Amino acid sequence: MLWFQETSKFGSKIALCDEKGHYTYQELYENAQKVAYFLMHQLHTNSLQGARIAYLFPSCKEYVAVQWGIWLAGGIAVPLSPLHPKAEMEYFIQDSEASLVILHNQFTSENFSVPSLTWQEIEYRSENLQGFSALPKVHLENPALMIYTSGTTGKPKGVILTHKNLAFQIETLVKAWEWKENDKILHVLPLHHIHGIVNALQCALYAGAEVVFLPKFEAQIVWQMWQKEVFSVFMAVPTIYNRLIAEWHKASETEKIAMQNACKSMRLMISGSAALPVSILEEWKNISGHFLLERYGMSEIGMAISNPLHGKRKAGSVGLPLPDIQIRLVDDNNQPVPQGEAGEIQVKGDNVFVGYWKKEQATAECFTADGFFRTGDIALKDDEGYYKILGRKSTDIIKTAGYKVSAIEIEETLRQHPQISDCAVIGISDDDKGEKIVGFVIAKNKELDETSLKNWLKEILAYYKIPSKVLFVEDFPRNAMGKVIKPELKKLLK
Ligand code: ATP
Ligand code: MG
Repeated sequence: MLWFQETSKFGSKIALCDEKGHYTYQELYENAQKVAYFLMHQLHTNSLQGARIAYLFPSCKEYVAVQWGIWLAGGIAVPLSPLHPKAEMEYFIQDSEASLVILHNQFTSENFSVPSLTWQEIEYRSENLQGFSALPKVHLENPALMIYTSGTTGKPKGVILTHKNLAFQIETLVKAWEWKENDKILHVLPLHHIHGIVNALQCALYAGAEVVFLPKFEAQIVWQMWQKEVFSVFMAVPTIYNRLIAEWHKASETEKIAMQNACKSMRLMISGSAALPVSILEEWKNISGHFLLERYGMSEIGMAISNPLHGKRKAGSVGLPLPDIQIRLVDDNNQPVPQGEAGEIQVKGDNVFVGYWKKEQATAECFTADGFFRTGDIALKDDEGYYKILGRKSTDIIKTAGYKVSAIEIEETLRQHPQISDCAVIGISDDDKGEKIVGFVIAKNKELDETSLKNWLKEILAYYKIPSKVLFVEDFPRNAMGKVIKPELKKLLK
């Protein structure tokens, strides 16, 4: 039995709600079966083992029925997101060599390079599908999900996760964050990414909790929903918390009290997918009363390090390794670094993916001889075993004048400036220093200038961490996960 089949025990309890209505656990499972039978019929097979099935849905209950349906039929689910431009969806479809794409009714006019099926067809035609009474046996080692990395450092890569990977990731988080049947989450994250799929959706369902989908994140709607219904869990990326904070500032004093009250029912608010600026953590604490739980993970490994649910959470830290996941920090020669020194995070455990789709070389290069996955992220471990992310080796660790400087540290400092609303720091090649530091700043007003900002920084940071150049911009290039695409910032400079 696959992990999600165990949810049948929750029967008539509500599993999923969207704009149009809800599914109980029983209805969700029945619809998933319908999808499975229909796919097997359509592709003339008794098992979809190895087949990639893409699907394009907004955040809605049918999305889950399709995902589970593909799994019941033995196939590999390849979720597409309406947040991606058409060309990018085509890249995912072609790269994954999907056999077909299933479309939500809202996208029926979309034409893709592979045959498509609509939800409507599945609904109408699955009624009389006799003869497909047996679902195939699906093994834990079989690939289940192919998600694409966010494309923050380059072209997105297809990450293959097996049922075993997913089951381990889900069980680990359900335990660590104590997901319970009486939990209810307002789900605002995209459903093509590990954060939205595993952490916020499948964990909730595995525990028998209730998931309410918002089709698209809107700060105002989130605040309204929290006031209308009682929610207990929330998960988001730092940019989302930033927008919720901005919305809060727009409210009147009476509205603010109501908004604050709405946060009282929450037992857990989590941030991840990108570094959580301490300024956001502090401000969110003042507004909501919640000290955000920050955790660290990737498409390739699910979640690996997390601040504790109970016990000390540290600002600017991603916490402690999750149970049964091995974490080590190594230097450029793959040797463990001395305590207190920075090194690359390497990870081993049942959470770790099996490989990148059709990228044998990249797959071979990302594993060490002793089976650890090289994350490419640099971190420090403190005396209590808590990890602090310094950034990505490729874009955030700037080698300047013989020093290794963390872009994240400079960004944290810049954000403390009262006239800065956001910033991003990169290194660009330089004949003299190897790399020189460039800061991109979104200022709150036009009063701030480069010279005064550098002077302000000189009081706080070592001289070699001061950006050689500061550029003022309106916004940053961001991907569908809201992460700043630093390679594009570099291109801007050229
Ligand atoms: P690509 O691999 O295509 O460049 P990506 O690495 O952004 O994109 P994801 O798998 O979505 O793709 O993101 C994983 C990365 O996100 C991690 O390697 C890490 O750099 C970053 N990350 C996740 N959580 C945190 C966190 N709490 N603090 C800092 N960085 C984080
Ligand atoms: Mg990555």
